[in-house]
Amino acid sequence: MSNPTLLILAGDGIGPEVMAQVERVIAWFGDKRGLAFDVENDLVGGAAYDKHGTPLHDDTMAKAMAADAVLLGAVGGPAYDDLDFSVKPERGLLRLRKEMDLFSNLRPAQCFDALADFSSLKRDIVAGLDIMIVRELTSGSYFGEPRGIFEEDGQRVGINTQRYTEAEIDRVARSAFELARRRGNKVCSMEKANVMESGILWREVVTAVHKADYADVELSHMYADNGAMQLVRAPKQFDVILTDNLFGDILSDCAAMLTGSLGMLPSASLGAVGENGRPKALYEPVHGSAPDISGQGKANPIACILSFAMALRYSFDQGEDATRLETAIEKVLSGGARTGDLMGPEGGKPISTTEMGDAILAALDASL
Ligand code: NAD
Repeated sequence: MSNPTLLILAGDGIGPEVMAQVERVIAWFGDKRGLAFDVENDLVGGAAYDKHGTPLHDDTMAKAMAADAVLLGAVGGPAYDDLDFSVKPERGLLRLRKEMDLFSNLRPAQCFDALADFSSLKRDIVAGLDIMIVRELTSGSYFGEPRGIFEEDGQRVGINTQRYTEAEIDRVARSAFELARRRGNKVCSMEKANVMESGILWREVVTAVHKADYADVELSHMYADNGAMQLVRAPKQFDVILTDNLFGDILSDCAAMLTGSLGMLPSASLGAVGENGRPKALYEPVHGSAPDISGQGKANPIACILSFAMALRYSFDQGEDATRLETAIEKVLSGGARTGDLMGPEGGKPISTTEMGDAILAALDASL
């Protein structure tokens, strides 16, 4: 059998710096755990624009469609700020998400014990936190028609439309239930069924999918505004939160900040399961290209490495090795290793991107 394929699009700014550490981790799993991948590298964002005049070349798009999973670093930077909207670095990322039809966005909020004091909430509220937000990514208010700014009775009106079909709700609900089965087996679905018809339909479809195929998973419903309050009051009550594009945008950022630094946050965007039995999948850190620190060896590679851990779990069914990698990172942090973004008020000497990679590889060696 041939090895599974990974397309690496490191992108711009700190993207290539953090991705270099991910490549070392990938090589470690090949050498030490017999998990070999066929890795190919290509360009996205500003780097692709510099070479091809477009933020995502058609050949790269074709490779992404064919790969078993795509790992992306980050795109953008001041050099590209004045480009026409159609060729901005972010358009490369949007094209990948759109053409791969990545409708299910997974954003974990996991609080490593060693970093619990970084949260703006009290340690006992966040220590041990491990929740997953599943956000619908390809429909809802950001895509619904009609949209625009129109003239009406002599003044301008801004319009966006919250629109969901049953099929769109059905497929993302299934993705959340499947995920819950691999975790704490609980889904809390959030909408505003009290004031929005789209919310009523959302609740009905989620309930029907649950009843038909996932009755073993515990399902609850919550209004999204209450969900926001509960996330900062008692976040550990949740396992998987399922929500739409707009509410998910806000709730996932809120949940992310429970855990401290941007340099720690991975994500996955999944689409339909293909002939290879795997979902179309793009894994990327939540952070951007961090032009303020790029090229200085200061970037924290953990968000990108944790994104690879998600790939191991959700694309390649290697949950045990995903946990091995997450545990190695936890050990490194408990041992006091910190990149600059993780320095607390107590100070200390930050380590470099490569030194963080060294420490994680050493912890992986120790796990054997
Ligand atoms: P950013 O996430 O790049 O940086 C925000 C702050 O967090 C900066 O101070 C940065 O130094 C710090 N930071 C981010 N990641 C870090 C890491 N791994 N280690 C240590 N510190 C880290 O957001 P921004 O400054 O608003 O945007 C910079 C560029 O990135 C812009 O061009 C923006 O469009 C782009 N961007 C891209 C993505 C993406 O590729 N998915 C996401 C957000 C922003």
